Amino acid sequence: MKSKKVIIIGAGLAGSLLSTYMAKRGIETEVYEARGDMRKEKMSAGRSINLALSNRGIRALKEVDMHEYMLKEAVPMYGRLIHSIEGETKMLPYSGREGEYINSVSRGGLNIALIDEADKYPESTFHFNQKCLEFDCTTGEVLLENTETGETRSVSGSTVIATDGAGSAVRKAMFSSRCVSRFNFQQKFLEHGYKEISIPPKSEFVGELPKLPEKAQGEFLLEKNVLHIWARHQFMMIALPNFDGSFTCTLFLAFEGENGFESLKDKESLMKFFKTNFADAIPLMPDLVEEFFTNPTGNLGTIKCYPWHVGGKSLLLGDSAHAIVPFYGQGMNASFEDCRVFNEILDKHGTDWEKVFEEYSKQRKRNTDAIADLALENFYEMRDAVADPVFVKKRELEMKLEQTFPDYFSKYSLVTFRDEIPYYDAQKRGNSQNDVLMNICENVDDVSEIDLNEVVKQVKTIF
Ligand SMILES: Cc1cc2nc3c(=O)[nH]c(=O)nc-3n(C[C@H](O)[C@H](O)[C@H](O)COP(=O)(O)OP(=O)(O)OC[C@H]3O[C@@H](n4cnc5c(N)ncnc54)[C@H](O)[C@@H]3O)c2cc1C
Repeated sequence: MKSKKVIIIGAGLAGSLLSTYMAKRGIETEVYEARGDMRKEKMSAGRSINLALSNRGIRALKEVDMHEYMLKEAVPMYGRLIHSIEGETKMLPYSGREGEYINSVSRGGLNIALIDEADKYPESTFHFNQKCLEFDCTTGEVLLENTETGETRSVSGSTVIATDGAGSAVRKAMFSSRCVSRFNFQQKFLEHGYKEISIPPKSEFVGELPKLPEKAQGEFLLEKNVLHIWARHQFMMIALPNFDGSFTCTLFLAFEGENGFESLKDKESLMKFFKTNFADAIPLMPDLVEEFFTNPTGNLGTIKCYPWHVGGKSLLLGDSAHAIVPFYGQGMNASFEDCRVFNEILDKHGTDWEKVFEEYSKQRKRNTDAIADLALENFYEMRDAVADPVFVKKRELEMKLEQTFPDYFSKYSLVTFRDEIPYYDAQKRGNSQNDVLMNICENVDDVSEIDLNEVVKQVKTIF
């Protein structure tokens, strides 16, 4: 018999948060997750261990009273610390204002806390080791496989919400079905992939400790409250701090060509590459060689598709609808914002799913397209521009302006800290302001030469 419950496919970051939002309204959900229960099983290594949580994500967590809990074990990051090839560092703050920073959080910790929270409500039921194989959009039935026994069964509910991530099985079924007459789908891989390497906390470092940077503190072998970037134009490495004192470094390299993953075939080529490009990081990575050759190399890509729903029968939400590259640190934040916006629309239409899905999709699509494009642009900014003197001057100017005037002058601030401005508007305004500021900075040797009042006047003329 068809249940009145909502079926959620995927108990990742979006699915578990969505289940809590629904439960708070008294809407019952059955959440089916392909993996085992991560509260009991160890997560596989080398897959985005930590994430940057910022205002949009925090706002969505706040609405279900989870923000304080989540931030308790977060490490604030106040800016990017750029490591030059010679080993010198330069801080580029994220904001000109106090209290504006991003937070490094554990993906596993966050996901577990979200599942635990939803699990407190009798309205939410989780089923693990249940993989969605097929979705029949004519009947609304989901075909599930028990990944431990191989048994299959069909379930159905009042509707299906797919939060099964970038490789969504529900999206694939929608794509190949006749239910959606014109399903637009675009998947674009970057020529770059990623691999994670760890820097251990001080107390777990085996062997003699190397000379540490002056600002390294406590358990941390590098400066703690920053996002470290080794920008090398065609490739880069970043490192985010973890609460236990370790860092997770992510190496972004092209798959092919010189300095690509395929060129690093053995210990010798790897060490030569690191000595040339990331010499200051080597002494801090005792397991570099083993981790490099053991940890998986992940793909990076953007997925755009539309429509996101089949009448009132199913909806794509989170990465299943809009996977983006990680360079703005916004994929999870955008998926949490999806849940918040979805919840607002429930206020208006209740469980009239077709109306809810229609309005939700219309409202979100241009915003998630905007953050997808911004994230790609930021890839080039992070690997090239942070090492470009005009860009560095522009960041200084943005900081000075934001410390002097109440407005927001940097695109980064608009996207990251102004959660009340939709991504689309932040992109439009941010790009126009960026052009003006870059132009000004190209024509001066030092930011101190710039008349800030004149800049504000110029910026105001574009709106
Ligand atoms: C390297 C990297 C770094 C990132 N850094 C950041 C960052 O700093 N900040 C940020 O905001 N975002 C970041 N992101 C993006 C972020 O990880 C995603 O946007 C976010 O996880 C999306 O949440 P989701 O719930 O939609 O998908 P997921 O978190 O991927 O969850 C999908 C869930 O569905 C399950 N599933 C999959 N297929 C099936 C199936 N067939 N049946 C049942 N269950 C299924 C999966 O096991 C998983 O539990 C990063 C991503 C990567 C790859």
